[in-house]
Amino acid sequence: MRKDLRLISQEKDKKTIIEIGDLRIGEDFMVIAGPCAVENEKQTIETAKAVKKAGANMLRGGAFKPRTSPYAFQGLGLKGLKILEKAKRETGLPIVTEVIDSRDVSWISEYADVLQIGARNMQNFSLLKEVGKADRPVLLKRGMYSTLKEWLSCAEYILSEGNKNVILCERGIRTFETYTRNTLDLSMVPAVKECTHLPVVVDPSHGTGRKSLIEPMSLAAVAAGANGLIVEVHNNPEVAMSDKDQQFNPEEFLVFMQHVRKLSEMMKNL
Ligand code: PEP
Ligand code: MN
Repeated sequence: MRKDLRLISQEKDKKTIIEIGDLRIGEDFMVIAGPCAVENEKQTIETAKAVKKAGANMLRGGAFKPRTSPYAFQGLGLKGLKILEKAKRETGLPIVTEVIDSRDVSWISEYADVLQIGARNMQNFSLLKEVGKADRPVLLKRGMYSTLKEWLSCAEYILSEGNKNVILCERGIRTFETYTRNTLDLSMVPAVKECTHLPVVVDPSHGTGRKSLIEPMSLAAVAAGANGLIVEVHNNPEVAMSDKDQQFNPEEFLVFMQHVRKLSEMMKNL
């Protein structure tokens, strides 16, 4: 591993801490929450206020959506980013949003506090090189068919361009199981920590695709030592334009947060 992953394995014992406002990612346990996609202003602002109230640390929401079908909702683009900007103004929550094209990195960085690279783009090397030049932290999702080594090599691409602020995100991989949307591989949390100095968060929403499984898997992620979670929340999931079965409503998210925070506090004294 060492030679290919020279930047990642170099300072394994010196944990990367990424500061965003008061938040110290890698040290403070954090929760990123928000809708799968930015659909309109009301949906996003209402959801942002709800996740803020429940104690989330950052707001997620896709303005550019990588969809399986070209006919499915593709996101609002610039309009979506402007809605996220307003949500940030009203709640103070930093924004995590996906970038799917290397040509968009510099202008999306004006709206995003963290640039998300989705599972489908994990090995989009020109995109990785571009976010490697950006002055924004990058949330790098694990590709759905990728090994740990391949995933870390993608992080190495970003680091090798100069951007040292990478957060790894386990979001499940494809297996023969069909009950869950993906198979959430929580062994990656301690494995990432064994191999790197980078923070690792878990996405139980895409990892399971089922609302009922999100809390148990999140608690397991906290117990495994994850530095945070990224969870989908929608003000009215029944009418969501994407991923409706895996988005919490505000009430469900509030209860979820109480349980997650309780366990993360307990973990501090372990
Ligand atoms: C997302 O988080 O919006 C998303 C599309 O997830 P993934 O890339 O993990 O499928
Ligand atoms: Mn989604």
